[in-house]
Amino acid sequence: MQSLRYIHFLVKRRTISSFHLNIANNIHYHSTMAAEEAVFLDYKKNTCQYKGYRHAAHAFIYCKMATSNEKMKHAVMMQLRFDGTLGFPGGFVDGGENLENGLNRELYEEIGLSQANHFNENDYFGSWYHEHISLMDHFYVKKLTENDFVKLEKRTLECHDWGGETMGIIRVPLQESSKNPKFYGLSQFFQHNFIGNAMHQLIQVLIEKNILPAVDVQDASVNRDQ
Ligand code: AMP
Ligand code: MN
Repeated sequence: MQSLRYIHFLVKRRTISSFHLNIANNIHYHSTMAAEEAVFLDYKKNTCQYKGYRHAAHAFIYCKMATSNEKMKHAVMMQLRFDGTLGFPGGFVDGGENLENGLNRELYEEIGLSQANHFNENDYFGSWYHEHISLMDHFYVKKLTENDFVKLEKRTLECHDWGGETMGIIRVPLQESSKNPKFYGLSQFFQHNFIGNAMHQLIQVLIEKNILPAVDVQDASVNRDQ
């Protein structure tokens, strides 16, 4: 119910109307049990409350596309994972390893992230605590230049985990369609299987970083079966 809880939160903040709340209720059908049970929190302020879990860190990497690209205003990176689901690059943080160092190490292995684009504390977005699997998943968001983003995409073919953990780097289809419904590609995309609560992470960051208006994200989720 994480997605629903988030939508309620948006309604409270008047980001979206309660009309959209009603039609967006069906987002949660796409949530796995893991996603429904995950609790979103600011780990850096709540460290004492949660004990005896493993840490993972994943990254939402995106860029604004040149204005000449009218169809897709942003590119957002996700990957096809070894287990067949879609998710964000990243992975387990080793014991004793600092979160950002663990994330940068995983990102180097999975997508060949260079030192110049390393993540730091300022890129921290929030964490999701998955109680039933004792996992604290830390999430980071970083905006690259279009040039760096495209270079990174090309490097993934040569990195360590290619063909192992990383089966393909993809861009989330965010193009606006002249046809109805708008963001048809995104509504189709939501039908895939996502690891953990990755679909919810995608929705939350698209809205909070103003990559797409909240209403369009809701519409895409509502229209996904049409
Ligand atoms: P990885 O090494 O990328 O598979 O990630 C380490 C752990 O985090 C695994 O148990 C994954 O199942 C889990 N995981 C990966 N991505 C997510 C996600 N977006 N939300 C929740 N858990 C995830
Ligand atoms: Mn991984």
